[in-house]
Amino acid sequence: MKKLLFFNVMALSLGLLPTAGKASPCNQSGYLVGAAADDITGPIVGVGMMGYADLGQFDEGLHMRLRARSLVVSDACGQATVALVIDDISMTFYSVKQAVVERLDRQLPGVFNNGNVLLSATHTHAGPGGYAHRLLYNITTGGFSPETFNAIVDGTVRSIVRAYKQRQSAQLSVVQGELGGVQFNRSPEAYLNNPLEERQRYATDTDRGMLLLKAQTPDGVPIAAFNWFAVHGVSLPLTNKLVSGDNKGLAAYLFERRMGASYVDANSPQFVAGFEQANAGDISPYDPDDKAAASSDGFARNQDSAEAQMVKAWDLFQRTDGLVLSGPVAAVHRFEDLANKPVSERFAGFAGGRTCNGVLGVSFAAGTKNGKPFPIFPDHAIYGKNWLPITLMAAEQDCHKQKVLLLPTGFVRPTSWTANTAPFQIVRIGELAVIATPFEITTMAGRRLKQQVLQTLANSGVKFVALSGLANEYLHYVTTAEEYAVQSYEGGATLFGPLSLAAYTEIFDQLAVDLGTGRQRSGAVAPPDLSAEQVVLPHQVLFDLPPPGGNYGDVKVDALELYHRGDAAKVDFWGAHPNNNLAPNKSYLTVEQWLNQRWEVKLYDWDPETTLHWQRVGLAGSLISVVWHLAPDTEFGTYRICHSGIAKTPLTGEASPYRGCSKQFKVGV
Ligand SMILES: [Zn+2]
Repeated sequence: MKKLLFFNVMALSLGLLPTAGKASPCNQSGYLVGAAADDITGPIVGVGMMGYADLGQFDEGLHMRLRARSLVVSDACGQATVALVIDDISMTFYSVKQAVVERLDRQLPGVFNNGNVLLSATHTHAGPGGYAHRLLYNITTGGFSPETFNAIVDGTVRSIVRAYKQRQSAQLSVVQGELGGVQFNRSPEAYLNNPLEERQRYATDTDRGMLLLKAQTPDGVPIAAFNWFAVHGVSLPLTNKLVSGDNKGLAAYLFERRMGASYVDANSPQFVAGFEQANAGDISPYDPDDKAAASSDGFARNQDSAEAQMVKAWDLFQRTDGLVLSGPVAAVHRFEDLANKPVSERFAGFAGGRTCNGVLGVSFAAGTKNGKPFPIFPDHAIYGKNWLPITLMAAEQDCHKQKVLLLPTGFVRPTSWTANTAPFQIVRIGELAVIATPFEITTMAGRRLKQQVLQTLANSGVKFVALSGLANEYLHYVTTAEEYAVQSYEGGATLFGPLSLAAYTEIFDQLAVDLGTGRQRSGAVAPPDLSAEQVVLPHQVLFDLPPPGGNYGDVKVDALELYHRGDAAKVDFWGAHPNNNLAPNKSYLTVEQWLNQRWEVKLYDWDPETTLHWQRVGLAGSLISVVWHLAPDTEFGTYRICHSGIAKTPLTGEASPYRGCSKQFKVGV
């Protein structure tokens, strides 16, 4: 028993792949496919939000619930299986991947491992943080947050397990298109430093390609649609304090709602739409030089970006000329230590090249046009050019060339603040290969990487390459070497120096070769489990206090008598701390309509028409404001707004549920 367990652990950590190789090809056509979504929201109050690294951005409420969306594909024989997962989080850390794979192996022994699970992130900057095991990411979030971590891991595992169990015979097809007008290159100076003849091959400084993978039953019942499109999840600015999936989370919701999916019963099979990231490293969802756009609260532009992506994905989904996939389900994966790693002449362009030790530069700390959490740092600091040749790290400077070195995150002791060893993975489903990049990659760097992998895999029958960004671990950014020389934010955040892209491309090229031959070369040892080293600051609520002379759920400011379409109806409740009530797939609020002699729930907290705002009152009081933004097509009628929660009694800590509702009001002309 012990030996078996040891083998399992070793297999998990080395990423040994039952799915890789050509040992037992499946001769039947078609696939087994399942899809499922689940709630990964976590604490909506009091946790630093992940993405902008802003010291003041702690969450205070909810715009939309965050979800994990999983697509599990097996070959028709059920022998080889892969899981493509997109989480509404800022980025995937290996901490999450490690825990997800371990828990999956407990629930479904032998099915999933590091190699065949691809965890990627929408890159929303509006989710609670504290789920990394590396210190850098927990400084601005108020420490490690077990509540966030468990919400993400548990919800992700539930979605994968359900998708796996719901697999059925299915047809998969791929269709491609282009979406213009919703991407803005935020580092054009860097892009323009790429060779002219290379830039001339492309119409724009953004990658407009959207690739959509469609799953349906043999008789045409839709199961899922996953697409890849490059745009940052920063439609909501760093002043936003409401938890939200940002543009990709909202796009997925809009697509699913249009397909009739409901989130009320998480266990019932539903259509799932996944909006994956791609080469979005330098891509803003709005024009950051447009002052009006940059200073807005972001909700209108979030809606615009989400709708544009949803409509494009919807159009691709309706098309019938996609390539129906056939061929193997497979995956290759290995860990690589990126620090001081030799890069061959073929990829470096010269002999004897190496990556550097991981250091973040001054241009990283300067932030981007999408948000500057530390405005004291200048943009485009270039060593020896506009920055005096004085360095904090003499031994490292030569290697990093133009980068002005600031944070030696890769070699601080005892545990590095950023990862040095990371998972590299390619998943194959028939003619489609998905590259899982543990970093954010710029437009041109992503084009180069996709081209290289497609070229290497073309002989094995692969016709499409998609790039899932922010997957499995986070190594910050990677630019082309030419972009790196300009030291925009993305260049300052290219951890391992100017040869980073060359090194990554070499690794992915080797993986592509291995995917073709079925002979997988070994990699670095898996990173350790750092869960025991975490500094956990108390996020827990000790107790709540009701309003003087009142009860939880009492209405403090009630609704008006009448609202019109387009209005915002707001009700303030005396409540308790929302983090007492982290149960997934539940709702803190309902908008209810009086129909057929009873109250029928029309909206929940995951619907974008509603927002919840929390405010501390006194020592332990909570004021909960629920806002309903009435859509232009809201049915006329009689409504009420309700809020429910769980209050904790002082001293005993006893938890008691409560609920309150506004008076009834009209929606009409
Ligand atoms: Zn980013």
